[in-house]
Amino acid sequence: MERNVAWTTYTDKDLKKLETISKNYIKFLDSGKTERECVTEAIRLSEKHGYRDFAEVIAEGGKLKAGDCVYSNCMGKAIMFFKVGRQPIEKGMNIVGAHIDSPRIDLKQNPMYEEAGLAYLDTHYYGGIKKYQWVAMPLAMHGVVAKKDGTLVNIVIGEDPKDPVIGISDLLPHLAADQMGKKGSLIIEGEALDVIIGSKPAKTDDDKDKDAVKNAVLAILKEKYDIEEEDFLSAEIEIVPAGGAREFGLDRSMIIGYGHDDRVCAYAQLEALFDISDIPEYTICCILADKEEIGSVGATGMSAKYFENAVAELINATGDYCDLKLRRTLAASRMLSCDVSAGFDPLFAGVFERKNSAYLGRGVCFNKYTGRGGKGGSNDANAEYMGALRKLMEDAKVNFQTAELGKVDQGGGGTIAYICAAYGMNVIDSGVAVLSMHAPWEIISKADLYEAVKAYRAFLVNA
Ligand code: MN
Ligand code: MN
Repeated sequence: MERNVAWTTYTDKDLKKLETISKNYIKFLDSGKTERECVTEAIRLSEKHGYRDFAEVIAEGGKLKAGDCVYSNCMGKAIMFFKVGRQPIEKGMNIVGAHIDSPRIDLKQNPMYEEAGLAYLDTHYYGGIKKYQWVAMPLAMHGVVAKKDGTLVNIVIGEDPKDPVIGISDLLPHLAADQMGKKGSLIIEGEALDVIIGSKPAKTDDDKDKDAVKNAVLAILKEKYDIEEEDFLSAEIEIVPAGGAREFGLDRSMIIGYGHDDRVCAYAQLEALFDISDIPEYTICCILADKEEIGSVGATGMSAKYFENAVAELINATGDYCDLKLRRTLAASRMLSCDVSAGFDPLFAGVFERKNSAYLGRGVCFNKYTGRGGKGGSNDANAEYMGALRKLMEDAKVNFQTAELGKVDQGGGGTIAYICAAYGMNVIDSGVAVLSMHAPWEIISKADLYEAVKAYRAFLVNA
């Protein structure tokens, strides 16, 4: 039952392709550190491959035929790509879906304050993080400020080598006797994740000005971005690790980066999608969803109706719409819910069950179920579906493994799988194994990325 180490199966041609994909993935990670940036980058890449904005096609009352490629942008934070197939759409679509939001630290709506000569931004973290991992390291701020007049200001500070970075302080060990005795979740508390952004007071006649440092930083923001303090009321600013993804290991076999969960699967999907130049048999769909890390909620999370609405529009644009056709299309579809899996970590072997763990370098991972405590909250995929996928993967010479998330009753997690399964389609989780998942810097194997691309391509074309 032991699975192949993918590396041992590669020809020189494979290794060359693997390195090219890895290089392009690192670029993708660096240009997409927020869900919005990922959508922008995905659109840019898709337009190079002939994808058009579906909203424009719809506005013109245009029709789509087999081979046509469109994208449907949901509020700039989630996106779907479709390539129309030869078969009638009611025969179902081949769907791959990942999420492009990652754990991070968000600014509060009223974030700025000054204390003891330091200016701070107050935050509320997003997703499941170990708060103590985010202190004492360079951080960057990415996001948008929506001004009252409707203009949207894009902000990226801390990525250009000439930029300053920001960050959160930690306590020196000399004074940490109390702190070191606390349990992990309390070493750094949520309200202590405040970001230092300045220490130099503005020149002022009033030497009792309690906000001189804060005001000096505000003047910089005013000059550079033309924003005022009140504009933070309508902003989405995310604090993320500063700097780029890079090769990891003396043998360069891995990649360390921020947001592998789940941008590694998102990128593998796009790479697979754009590599398909022929008209597919069944209509192909690639979903990049937002808000997975906080429960797939909100207008841009997978639980919203944008996917169903886009498929309704697709049915309308490729023929005549009726509700029954939409339901048949969704129920007849096949999906890979592409999300990362916990990589077996020998340093924490006790939380894993070795026979059913994902190992770095053993290929794309299928999780029949996720969930916690008796599979709670999981989409438990059908055996028949997994059987068909085994054949499909073997025919395409994809190295794959199967896993569940740790030992029974050790913890758990979920994905978007169950949401799409509610339409009656076959869905299974499939993704890349990650070390240090949800840490500021996560680690994957280049081989698993390569196998994910192969797996998703084979699935989109042949499922
Ligand atoms: Mn994920
Ligand atoms: Mn996650």
